[in-house]
Amino acid sequence: MLMQSARPLGELENPNEFIPRHIGISEADERHMLSVIGEASRRALVEGIVPRSIARTRGMQLPPATTEAAALEELRSIASRNQVFRSFIGQGYHGTFTPGVILRNILENPAWYTAYTPYQAEISQGRMEALVNFQTMVCDLTAMPIANASMLDEATAAAEAMTLAKRSVKSRSNTIVVAGDCHPQVIEVVQTRAEPLGIEVVLANSHEEWNEKLAGDYFAVLAQYPSTSGRIDDLKADVELAHTKQAAFIVAADLLALTLLVPPGEFGADIVVGTTQRFGMPMGCGGPHAAYLACRDEYKRSMPGRLVGVSVDAHGNPAYRLALQTREQHIRREKATSNICTAQVLPAVVASMYAVYHGPQGLKRIAQRVASYAAILAKGLEQLGHKPHRGSFFDTITLNTGEATDALVAKGHALHVNLRKSWEGFISISLDETTTRNDLKLLWSIFARPGQPVPDFAPFEKGVEPAIPQELRRTSAFLTHPVFNTHHSETGMLRYIRSLSDKDLALDRTMIPLGSCTMKLNATSEMIPITWPEFAHVHPFAPRDQLQGYAELDEQLRAWLCEATGYAGISLQPNAGSQGEYAGLLAIKAWHASRGEAHRNVCLIPSSAHGTNPASAQMAGMQVVVTACDDNGNVDLADLKAKCEQHADKLSCVMITYPSTHGVFEEQVKELCAIVHRHGGRVYVDGANMNALVGVAAPGEFGGDVSHLNLHKTFCIPHGGGGPGVGPVCVVEDLVPFLPGHKAGGLATHPVGAVSAAPLGNAAVLPISWMYCRMMGAEGLTQATEVAILSANYISARLRDHYPTLYASANGHVAHECILDLRPLKESSGVTAEDVAKRLIDYGFHAPTLSFPVPGTLMVEPTESETLEEIDRFIAAMIAIREEIRRVEAGEWSQEDNPLKNAPHTAAALMQGEWTHAYPREAGAAVLDERRHAKYWPPVGRVDNVYGDRNLFCSCVPMSAYE
Ligand SMILES: *Cc1c(COP(=O)(O)O)cnc(C)c1O
Repeated sequence: MLMQSARPLGELENPNEFIPRHIGISEADERHMLSVIGEASRRALVEGIVPRSIARTRGMQLPPATTEAAALEELRSIASRNQVFRSFIGQGYHGTFTPGVILRNILENPAWYTAYTPYQAEISQGRMEALVNFQTMVCDLTAMPIANASMLDEATAAAEAMTLAKRSVKSRSNTIVVAGDCHPQVIEVVQTRAEPLGIEVVLANSHEEWNEKLAGDYFAVLAQYPSTSGRIDDLKADVELAHTKQAAFIVAADLLALTLLVPPGEFGADIVVGTTQRFGMPMGCGGPHAAYLACRDEYKRSMPGRLVGVSVDAHGNPAYRLALQTREQHIRREKATSNICTAQVLPAVVASMYAVYHGPQGLKRIAQRVASYAAILAKGLEQLGHKPHRGSFFDTITLNTGEATDALVAKGHALHVNLRKSWEGFISISLDETTTRNDLKLLWSIFARPGQPVPDFAPFEKGVEPAIPQELRRTSAFLTHPVFNTHHSETGMLRYIRSLSDKDLALDRTMIPLGSCTMKLNATSEMIPITWPEFAHVHPFAPRDQLQGYAELDEQLRAWLCEATGYAGISLQPNAGSQGEYAGLLAIKAWHASRGEAHRNVCLIPSSAHGTNPASAQMAGMQVVVTACDDNGNVDLADLKAKCEQHADKLSCVMITYPSTHGVFEEQVKELCAIVHRHGGRVYVDGANMNALVGVAAPGEFGGDVSHLNLHKTFCIPHGGGGPGVGPVCVVEDLVPFLPGHKAGGLATHPVGAVSAAPLGNAAVLPISWMYCRMMGAEGLTQATEVAILSANYISARLRDHYPTLYASANGHVAHECILDLRPLKESSGVTAEDVAKRLIDYGFHAPTLSFPVPGTLMVEPTESETLEEIDRFIAAMIAIREEIRRVEAGEWSQEDNPLKNAPHTAAALMQGEWTHAYPREAGAAVLDERRHAKYWPPVGRVDNVYGDRNLFCSCVPMSAYE
């Protein structure tokens, strides 16, 4: 029988089928779920959960939802307002060819982009191998012993290097000397970050100044290698001088150049940072790209960012896991080394694969080609009477063009060529992998005076030599590990990439029910635009009239997010939630200062807060005071009030998360905001949980002054295995002037400077959130919120008799996530929350959030995108696991030898000849019937974290380890 259609035949409009495709729950599902929860309607459920005192009184003013096709067409027309010129700007952003096999099988492949941060090591071996390749690549190219994966951008990496140096060196000076010819955006971000910490940034703008400052007192030095104008300096003597002052020498280095230049590790650098953008990631108007940070071995325990290390699994085989997490923000909080949480994993994977695919010879060939083109360009320019400012360079040459500068730049624009006016009277030209002979002719034609013949390429071609001084040429080998010398055919590469993603669980195979992380659908239509050339191939510092498409995207998205949050102003510059927090706290700090109250620096943070909150407050130079939570998991209002009074004179702000990280809508949030305001403080509302609020309540309306959003949670940017993210900072009216600036990007830097390298941060992923909002409209977004709340309450209700929910509101309901309390099981069976998390792997699931914010619990967030079928499958697995625990409780299986303690089970472990465990092999495999044909097999058994941290090893494993 044909299904009866509600729509009349002959309708002319395409129905919007995106909303029901994004939301996994049908009307029939909804009725069933409501009956389980015991509520009459979704509306009634939500109204009973979201406090009426904060409920929105007016709808969001958004354009009506449109279809996937129509949204794509509209975005195409926005994209077409970006003009893709040939860019020779350089300054840390270069043209690059993303190898097709990497573009399609990683950057555009949900198996890679929908993965979560690799906290669950056993289901993340593939992406962690790629990240170890990244770390090895950075170590080899920089000649440093240890490197992380990854940093947010080159500029923030330089700022992190500054604070790493401050923590690590013996010098007690408060001064950092920065070479004036570092990339301007690097200098800006270092200045922004230095200020709240009381660090003095001393710029050395000439050779004389450099020598003079280096003779003084400082704790660190930062130099760019090669410099922003292309100069290659021999820094050896400077490094030695810095070391005599017990100071650290930081080098910001270009990885492609390091295939030809003596690497910083060989002349004694202490920390090396940089971007890996030109290793296959499109410029994307500034991001996302992975930056790197490598350092001396002695600094490794206070390094910022994530580090992947090698450990062993339960069977003694090598296995990867995140190393030294004890130094991270979620453990160390305000004593953390940095606030980095979401990093740039997907771009780091792309960069590592670029090195795997090209290998050391291939990379060197690319670099030599670029350097040879630069040398030829210089010869031609010299013939035209423009002698390069310096005789040695890698890919960038700078010309003293004097009065003619502006005319030359304009002539370039007329030919669709972007040249960089690096200083008054100087032009810099930067070449890259994509440069052709025609490009050089085009460049020469710009510099040829009327009637002057454009030089011929051919005579320069013979015997061309890169303009790199002999003594600075690299002689040491790099990327010698087999992984960089094996997968050079496309077939081989394709299979290597596939073999890694097959080891991992991502959203393309199972729900990832992570509380606080909102792993929802990343729709294909949302993803398609990010690699359109108009978005992917524009330079962040191209003239603004070429970036009109991005300007419009920025403006529209900010307007829509203002509607969703109730705030007056937003900046999309912060490139992760943590960076949004930092920018928001800087806004509060600068606002206080503008009123003559710079002394207000106490930041109250409830004990349940995410670790990035205290870490960001510390970076903003604030004093963190922790406030208590009551037995119901709510902020203890009496304690908060007492601390507001106690610190009234110095109160800067309070940072709360709403709904709380305990998964509850606290009734008293308005009162809380009022108390803080009464004491002269501002309220920061961490917006990571906006998926429970959009369309339902707005933090900017119920008392928040500042929030950050996580577009990579609520607004559909995929998690990428741990980044990229976008962390917009949103503020009320009187804080709008305190949003981040960006001089290199054409924005004022007073009162608050740049917080990211690029003015629009991770610009190239913004189309994803734009598409989501455009296709959902106000109605779809509100429905998404309500269904997310419905699904969380359904899980909580279904699991009530098996795993009680720890915190709920008075009527027994939760917000969009629920914390399952597993602590009593430890007593009765010896089974821990971690055992259950690992056992879920056997059942083919990614574990929920483990032991955050409460140790011994699992936090589950299904999101609106999961189908009832998948949610029920998860519930069935959880109940099956509870039954297994009962058998341990009953003494049928011992507390030491049971399927939970031995989880996850690899195929190899189950197939071994003699089976010695107390439970049958089939019980170990844990195959739910409907998955018999598609069982996920973890590649390794339970990973030993302690072993790995004691025996820290963070590079590619020598082949002998597998023997
Ligand atoms: C994810 C999260 C953050 C940090 O965001 P990143 O993008 O990972 O830096 C902060 N607070 C809460 C509550 C979060 O869940």
